[in-house]
Amino acid sequence: MSLWIPFQNSYAQLPARFFTRQSAIPVSAPRLIRFNRALAEDLGITADDDLELALVFSGNALPTGASPLAQVYAGHQFGGFSPQLGDGRALLLGEVVDRQERRHDIQLKGSGPTPYSRMGDGRAWLGPVLREYLVSEAMHKLGLPTTRALAAVATGERVYREAGALPGAVLTRVAASHLRVGTFQYFAARRDIDGLRALYDYTVARHYPKAEGPAHLLAKVIRAQARLVAGWLSVGFIHGVMNTDNTAISGETIDYGPCAFLDQYHPQTVFSSIDAHGRYAYGNQAHVIVWNMAQFATALVPLMPDQDDAIAEFTALVHAMPDQIETEWRRAFGRKIGIAEATAQDAAMVGDLLARMAAGRADFTNTFRGLIDGTARDQFLDRAAFDAWERGWRARIAREADPEGVMRAANPAYIPRNHRIEQMIEAAVAGDYAPFERLLAVLARPYQDQPGADDLRHPPEPSEVVRATFCGT
Ligand code: AMP
Ligand code: MG
Repeated sequence: MSLWIPFQNSYAQLPARFFTRQSAIPVSAPRLIRFNRALAEDLGITADDDLELALVFSGNALPTGASPLAQVYAGHQFGGFSPQLGDGRALLLGEVVDRQERRHDIQLKGSGPTPYSRMGDGRAWLGPVLREYLVSEAMHKLGLPTTRALAAVATGERVYREAGALPGAVLTRVAASHLRVGTFQYFAARRDIDGLRALYDYTVARHYPKAEGPAHLLAKVIRAQARLVAGWLSVGFIHGVMNTDNTAISGETIDYGPCAFLDQYHPQTVFSSIDAHGRYAYGNQAHVIVWNMAQFATALVPLMPDQDDAIAEFTALVHAMPDQIETEWRRAFGRKIGIAEATAQDAAMVGDLLARMAAGRADFTNTFRGLIDGTARDQFLDRAAFDAWERGWRARIAREADPEGVMRAANPAYIPRNHRIEQMIEAAVAGDYAPFERLLAVLARPYQDQPGADDLRHPPEPSEVVRATFCGT
């Protein structure tokens, strides 16, 4: 065996009620689609045999040192509380510690049913596996905290979904951890204070070793999430299913189900087919994350000796979060218009541009990137509306040291556009992985102009527009 994963498992040592030990259910004909060699190297994983990779990352072969388990958690889904969820189609194989001493989960997704599968089959089809692989890697290259993709394997089996029989696949996901707001909610809802304390101790040791007490942990998670969501907004990302079980304590983006990037800018944009009321629309994300942090705070209260004091202290922390998001948003969007450290007045200038973009049906990514080369105005139905804004903006950036450099680092030329993802999936289902490979290659350098990749900058033609994305199930 040439594949070596240096497992050092810690979650498997937590109390038994944190998980169910479970093996992957073998698949009939695993075939490697993609292995992320650069990431593997960072993680100290050595591999050279594709057959072996296919066996291990489909779940057919258990690598030495793995202790596979399904994690239990709870969560608010679209605002309603489910007291017990869990890995219904995923397995934690174990953890590795990289050269920078950072611990990572190695998780199979689509590896078969577990006790938490409820009505599901425990499987994933090729489309969502390739979507998550591509979008999570693109998010990383855009500079946002995110889970990563280590491998994609075709199972050789069919999975049955509304659309019919589809090719099955397994994704291997790497995460700082899979601890979620919902993990805390699981123990809090059961009044399992010993479990909650064990989870708290584990979380602090793993992610926030300097945290001194639950209030401090809450403050640190709020800070990480404020930064994350401002980052999403700055690249036009819509997560699509910001349930509390999909909010990671680490501050990473997790769970690429019905996610999508904006083409035309409009704050009410929603792609997810299951988000009928727009709860997780682009412009709601900054509100929803505060609500999710309030749920996290609630789950931490039982850890405190004086609960009334705790509620007052935690409430103040949650109420301070919108200001933190605003500060992060201002910094991120200030850079998008070439201002290194934006003031409140600069933020108003950004707000004015966004309002004109919404009215002018302007493409989000191409408008900001177009500020660099003067093509932004072409994005607007009413170009005069842009020109009126541009005069004030030019006067303002004349006072900046290097507006172009700042904008080049803040405004990607390439994002994983939804219509391209759908076309890529359609090709892959037909056996052609070239579009997947090409998108991956271009999105590996999103801030650099790349000759021959102009077509990937275009918003969809009317016939290409994707109106809905579907959960990864
Ligand atoms: P998600 O929408 O991916 O966050 O999933 C919500 C819950 O449904 C999680 O507990 C998943 O493990 C579970 N789930 C989603 N898809 C499946 C599936 N195909 N089989 C079993 N469980 C699933
Ligand atoms: Mg989930």
